[in-house]
Amino acid sequence: MDREELDSLFPALVSRGYDIVGPTVRDGAIVYDRLKSSQDLPCGWTDEQDGGKYRLIRRKDKALFGYVVGPHSWKKFLYPPIQRLWQAKREANGFRVLAQTPEPTKYAFLGVRSCELHAIEIQDKVFMQGPFVDPGYKARRENSFIIAVNCAQAGGTCFCVSMNTGPKANAGYDLALTEVLDGGKHYFLVEAGTEKGVEVLKEVPHRPASEAERRTADRIVSETARHMGRTMKTEGIKELLYTNLEHPRWDNVAKRCLTCANCTMVCPTCFCTTVEDVTDLTGDHAERWRKWDSCFTADFSYIHGGSVRASAKSRYRQWMTHKLASWIDQFGTSGCVGCGRCITWCPVGIDITEEVKAIRETKPARGDGQAQKGAK
Ligand code: SF4
Ligand code: SF4
Repeated sequence: MDREELDSLFPALVSRGYDIVGPTVRDGAIVYDRLKSSQDLPCGWTDEQDGGKYRLIRRKDKALFGYVVGPHSWKKFLYPPIQRLWQAKREANGFRVLAQTPEPTKYAFLGVRSCELHAIEIQDKVFMQGPFVDPGYKARRENSFIIAVNCAQAGGTCFCVSMNTGPKANAGYDLALTEVLDGGKHYFLVEAGTEKGVEVLKEVPHRPASEAERRTADRIVSETARHMGRTMKTEGIKELLYTNLEHPRWDNVAKRCLTCANCTMVCPTCFCTTVEDVTDLTGDHAERWRKWDSCFTADFSYIHGGSVRASAKSRYRQWMTHKLASWIDQFGTSGCVGCGRCITWCPVGIDITEEVKAIRETKPARGDGQAQKGAK
């Protein structure tokens, strides 16, 4: 389909009751927000990313998806940063608790990258496949429609190839697009991944792709795979981290880490929350709210009189060891999809790939790197 035909996706989705959310430019970054038409997409923009650095710059062409991922992820919509869980109202004989019914929003996510599809899959496991199912997440997820975009360029902090999560979307989408800008031509190859996708595609003008067009799309994605900004050697990573809980590198990273929690806020798989109870002045009405929290705050590990992780060293170690090691024991996969956001949005440019490399390549100073799993 061509650039104009892509516009027909919008009415096809709106007529099915979807709220379309996708990338758009705001405040000097590409963020995810509601879109009215393809005019809202970041046409002709790209992003430059490195440790602690993010900058939008103009491209020479009119690409709609010529950038990588920004500070937002889809968890903002599937698992909102703040949510009321229940309310309680005082009545003559006590309190009545009113459950929160999940709102019936139907989201169509446009422009989901392969690493993000993997992040959604990880959050599906956390919120829908364990003993405790989150009803709000489940309702939003089951109602969602996903239009993936295969990455046509790699960002400076991307390492999806190392994590085996990209750059081509292989599953988890209803439709997948590859944007092609080739010799003055601008078109999209589209693949349907579900029956829902096939139904929507019927309402969008398109034609079968030629063999040459398919080859061009494949070449674009393979080129992207060859130009990752970062790499991470993942072989034996769980054992590496479990046996290096006292590695001197944790002191080194602690000197730089501000415990600002940015890395956890931008990470598409992090899911820690806290709850806050509020009452009105009369005491007749109370509410419990859930808010995103972070393992980088002192309060997060506060138990009966003190914080278990009082130092920056223990918090960074806990975060990275959970992401790359204990997550595997807990959920069967790594908690990192290699999107690079935690590197780009860390104000001091701490780089998870460099930290792993440093631990892998340097021996512990005291020879006590066999510290027990679970040490604080
Ligand atoms: S690693 Fe960076 S982003 Fe994460 S808490 Fe430390 S300073 Fe903040
Ligand atoms: S740990 Fe960093 S690179 Fe990995 S998924 Fe989270 S934000 Fe992305």
